[in-house]
Amino acid sequence: MEKNNIDFTHWFFDLDNTLYCANTGIFDQIHKKMGEFISKNLKVSLKEAKLLQKKYFIENGTTLHGLMINHNIDPKEFLSYVHDIDFSIVKPDEELNNLIKKIQGRKIVFTNANISYVEKILTNLDLNNIFEDIFDIERMNFLPKPNLKTYKKLISTYNVKKGILFDDIPKNLFPASDLGLKTVQVYNKKLDKELNGTSKKIDYMTNNLKEWLKKWIQNN
Ligand SMILES: [Mg+2]
Repeated sequence: MEKNNIDFTHWFFDLDNTLYCANTGIFDQIHKKMGEFISKNLKVSLKEAKLLQKKYFIENGTTLHGLMINHNIDPKEFLSYVHDIDFSIVKPDEELNNLIKKIQGRKIVFTNANISYVEKILTNLDLNNIFEDIFDIERMNFLPKPNLKTYKKLISTYNVKKGILFDDIPKNLFPASDLGLKTVQVYNKKLDKELNGTSKKIDYMTNNLKEWLKKWIQNN
């Protein structure tokens, strides 16, 4: 990374698979609960439910958004059901936490998840008092990333001048880039192939957020 002396005023971090690895453990539990919820509420087999779950996630940004549009599902009911899981498997990474603490500028979590879930995860990560705010799915008016309206609301809410966004999903970075933010893909080999990819709208790629932050702090 070249020395660039950019002082970002705002640092936005996605939560799942960006600040910690959600694929092993947390997502397994949530995916199972989602399948059950869809099967019960739409009266389809578990197998059909799984297909719908993935289809809506890819087409609508979140499974929930697809269920709201196509089946008028109550988001609060869905979220409380699928987040009734064991959070204790999420453990803090002290080295990462110390790096995040060193960052100058405003630090905000920007996630398609809902606030009670985010708070549980952040508590287990020991990151609860590090971020000044959480811009969650309700703050997004239930329009998940990558909906452009949500990024416009984000930018106006915090009056962002020079911002940077970290996310594991490339298409979640594109609207941010269109609106002038720098973007970092926290690359995840376990991500579904439909969701991966590269683009000119991604300024940096890393498969190790800690290494990226270390280099950034050294160079700036
Ligand atoms: Mg993510």
